[in-house]
Amino acid sequence: MNNCIFCQIVTRKIPSEILYENEHVISILDINPIHFGHALVFPKKHCRDFLDLPEESYKHILQAANIVTKALVKNLNLEGYNLFSNNGSIAGQSVFHFHLHITPRYSDDNIRFVLRLKEYPDGEMKRYGEILRHYINQQSEMK
Ligand code: AMP
Ligand code: ZN
Repeated sequence: MNNCIFCQIVTRKIPSEILYENEHVISILDINPIHFGHALVFPKKHCRDFLDLPEESYKHILQAANIVTKALVKNLNLEGYNLFSNNGSIAGQSVFHFHLHITPRYSDDNIRFVLRLKEYPDGEMKRYGEILRHYINQQSEMK
């Protein structure tokens, strides 16, 4: 995957501001931050998106996110932070190597995720629940 920006960061082919790394994961500063300190965490092995991640990588990604989030909270006087991941171009993913964003938040920052929240019509929440539970139960029986 040598045309992937994040793979090239891992192999030092392109420079980045590395905050943390171990054998499995790396965390860097985002080059175009929402706020200064905006960090990214991603596995060293190329994976396109969340569903492409090997199960053994989950804990390494969350452990690194925890280490970096603590550093942000303790050093940048954070009042809060967001952890999120865009998956698929329709969801805003622009680098197709899975990553978590960790963004500082401040009370006066005026950042809003603009959401038009819906209400389920009668019975629809139950119907969605049933479809999804059915699939999840089937998958766990197949394991
Ligand atoms: P997403 O749009 O969710 O896929 O996030 C990709 C993020 O990677 C964006 O916030 C970019 O600013 C960031 N980014 C792209 N290239 C680099 C780079 N060379 N170094 C650090 N961050 C980068
Ligand atoms: Zn990659």
